[in-house]
Amino acid sequence: MLKKRMVILGGGESGVGAALLCKQQGYDVFLSDAGKIKDHYKDELESNNIEFESGGHTGAKILSAYEVMKSPGIPSSNPIVKEILSLHIPIISEMELAYRYKGNSRIIGITGSNGKTTTSSLIYQICKTGGFNCALVGNIGNSIARQITTDPKPLYVVEISSFQLDDIISFRPDVAVLTNITEDHLDRYEHDFEKYITAKFKIVKNQTEHDFFIYNADDPVTVKYLDQYPFNSKPLPISMQREMPKGAYIKDDHMHVKQADQLTMSIFDFALKGKHNQYNTMAAAVASSVVGIRKEKIRDAVSSFESLAHRMEKVATVRGVEFINDSKATNLNSAWFALESMEKPVILILGGVDKGNDYKLIKDMVAEKVKAIVCMGLDNSKIHEAFSEVVDKIVDARSAAEAVKHAYALSIKGDLVLLSPACASFDLFKNYEDRGDQFKKAVKEL
Ligand code: ADP
Repeated sequence: MLKKRMVILGGGESGVGAALLCKQQGYDVFLSDAGKIKDHYKDELESNNIEFESGGHTGAKILSAYEVMKSPGIPSSNPIVKEILSLHIPIISEMELAYRYKGNSRIIGITGSNGKTTTSSLIYQICKTGGFNCALVGNIGNSIARQITTDPKPLYVVEISSFQLDDIISFRPDVAVLTNITEDHLDRYEHDFEKYITAKFKIVKNQTEHDFFIYNADDPVTVKYLDQYPFNSKPLPISMQREMPKGAYIKDDHMHVKQADQLTMSIFDFALKGKHNQYNTMAAAVASSVVGIRKEKIRDAVSSFESLAHRMEKVATVRGVEFINDSKATNLNSAWFALESMEKPVILILGGVDKGNDYKLIKDMVAEKVKAIVCMGLDNSKIHEAFSEVVDKIVDARSAAEAVKHAYALSIKGDLVLLSPACASFDLFKNYEDRGDQFKKAVKEL
């Protein structure tokens, strides 16, 4: 029998994972990447006898596909994608492909604008503490397709970006978590916020009455759109504003998880600090409770979880001045939550590549918490304009070392220097990890 031809667009982790899975499932696989493919991925494709090309797309080899798997990094405005669509060749995402071959395994899928990695990692930690054989996959670490091919598990905790949800058809997580929705990545959604919201809500689209949907009932955008995207799963809201009969809420500094195995826990015992992390912790506790983890195990994991690098990461205290690395805060919402949790006068390191920030959104919070700003970007004019009325000292820096020096000079004992840039990093750095690493290095050299 003639094998079905599966074409994979993109040779990164999703693409290579998908290629391995398709090969294992007996497809005729061809992978194409318009850019470079990393050597270790090339080696992997070669050793698995998977045909591939890099540095361009050969139309004839692609348009003969039975189906195309498009990596999440490739926008649908890409010319080859348009050609594929014009020929009505189905395009699916890696999530969709992996879903077909997951067998009876369960999926907890986590999406949202902020908090995905933190919430996914915490759920994974709780599930492992609870003795479950599971894997943490998706946007972090291994692609789900690779995991299914090489080391299948009964439970997958999957971090899912909106791009990975764009091309799903039947993908259905047993438990869906939507952390929140704020404006981000609008460049990929024709600057239409509603299109981005539609992508996020796809996480519940195929859920049935046996599944669960955990969402933040205090998030205005989520709540506003809840009725517009009907879902069949059981809603499990989390809140700090209201008591919830199902799901979880925080009242008088205690989290109450309203599941069969009810858990009450002081928020002061949470390992992750800050209000945003209280939401993440509630979501993770509910998700793991739903899949059957006992409350003692949830309590253990939630109180001992080690915070992740570049997310409100404590770096050091130098002569009474504390330094915190929140380099992963690449939008205003995450910087707002970082500031909200600060209890000392803050010298804020802000700036980079701005994805259309409206700084008004954090102006009040900055006025309340920040005594000085160090701008760390190539173009800092918007920051000066936005905050000159409310912050006395605003200075510019062109490197992490310079920013740390300025911030330290502006501080006195008892202050806190926070790197929470609200911007992407690629004007001065390779990526947010590089930015955070250079910041930490500069602090250690003070
Ligand atoms: P994501 O994977 O969605 O980018 P992360 O967990 O990596 O999210 O966190 C990214 C940034 O957002 C960090 O600066 C973090 O402090 C902040 N953050 C984490 N959780 C939330 C939340 N629930 N709401 C707002 N900001 C958050």
